[in-house]
Amino acid sequence: MAGLYLHIPFCVQKCAYCDFVSFADPEPLQAYLSALIKEIGLTARRFPAVAYDTVFIGGGTPSIVSAQDMAGLLAALRSAFAIAPGAECTIECNPGTVDAQKLQAYLKGGVNRLSLGLQSAEDGLLRAIGRIHDFAQFEESYRLAREAGLQNINVDLMYGLPGQSLGQYLSTIRTVAALGPEHISAYSLILEEGTPLYMRVKAGETTLPDEDEVCDMQDAGRALLAELGYERYEISNYAKPGFACRHNINYWQNGPYLGLGLAAHSAKEIDGWRRWSNHAEMSAYLAALERDELPICEQRRIPHTEEMFECVMLGLRMLKGVERSAFSARFGLDVCTAYPEAVEALFALGWAEATPDALRLTEAGLDMENSALLYFLKD
Ligand code: SF4
Repeated sequence: MAGLYLHIPFCVQKCAYCDFVSFADPEPLQAYLSALIKEIGLTARRFPAVAYDTVFIGGGTPSIVSAQDMAGLLAALRSAFAIAPGAECTIECNPGTVDAQKLQAYLKGGVNRLSLGLQSAEDGLLRAIGRIHDFAQFEESYRLAREAGLQNINVDLMYGLPGQSLGQYLSTIRTVAALGPEHISAYSLILEEGTPLYMRVKAGETTLPDEDEVCDMQDAGRALLAELGYERYEISNYAKPGFACRHNINYWQNGPYLGLGLAAHSAKEIDGWRRWSNHAEMSAYLAALERDELPICEQRRIPHTEEMFECVMLGLRMLKGVERSAFSARFGLDVCTAYPEAVEALFALGWAEATPDALRLTEAGLDMENSALLYFLKD
């Protein structure tokens, strides 16, 4: 499997918790889209003859781009790269920035999956974290997407928000599930240093739920999602049968992908496993493409042991774990043989289990994922 990622680093405004590479100033948008189209052409010429099974247009807020510009971007992508028949093609949207015309442009351009950032169904909580929309706008975007014919929709939720109660989180899950999205992502809020929310919490102006309350939300949310028919397939991701996100599964299987756009990352087998990343500074990104050069600022060949650890670290995020046959085919030895002491220690703790097909974390192990991974680093 191979994936393509396109980054659109513009938002209507910055959310209070966000430290992603995205800007509220749309001034360079047109220059950026032209540069991105040039990068698409240059990259396709560098890596011809690869068919891509997934495409993900993320951000930022890709739905900030006009219908006409997004149609142009999708057309450029399809004429430059071979996209496999039946490929999953996702675009991230924020409520309040989607309309029927944009949705038609997505569908015509081959988009077949929408990811809507909601975070909470409580308007007060949305205001507290600086989101641009309220719940009614989300419902409207969702309705428009269904009317347009999109049959695969993800909704992003967050827990551990300022002042959020367990009841509010569970009520959001019930409200969203009643609409019937095929996929729900549920992430805990991470307080990133330097963000406005971080400053407010440090200044004592805002309080976040404590660790126990966050754990309760995670556990109760997970149980409720299961009850409502959403199968957990990764630490924070839930789907109805057949709707797990293939693009993200490729990341967790440590598969190859190309990332295009500002600060985008790529990984690929080129005389060994390599990772590289694009400039994160807009002026440097635009200047490189102005010179007809790829905007790569850093690349590294990943040593074999590090590549093995990456496969374990990423694969254990999924409930099905690390596939033993895929690991053996890639590294020439079984994953349990590669890390005998880590595996033995995790079995003893009840944090991992091995089947003939996979090495995977148990539910207790998934809760302690970071600690579990430390055993593989020591082995
Ligand atoms: S919409 Fe997403 S990328 Fe944009 S500021 Fe909010 S969290 Fe960050």
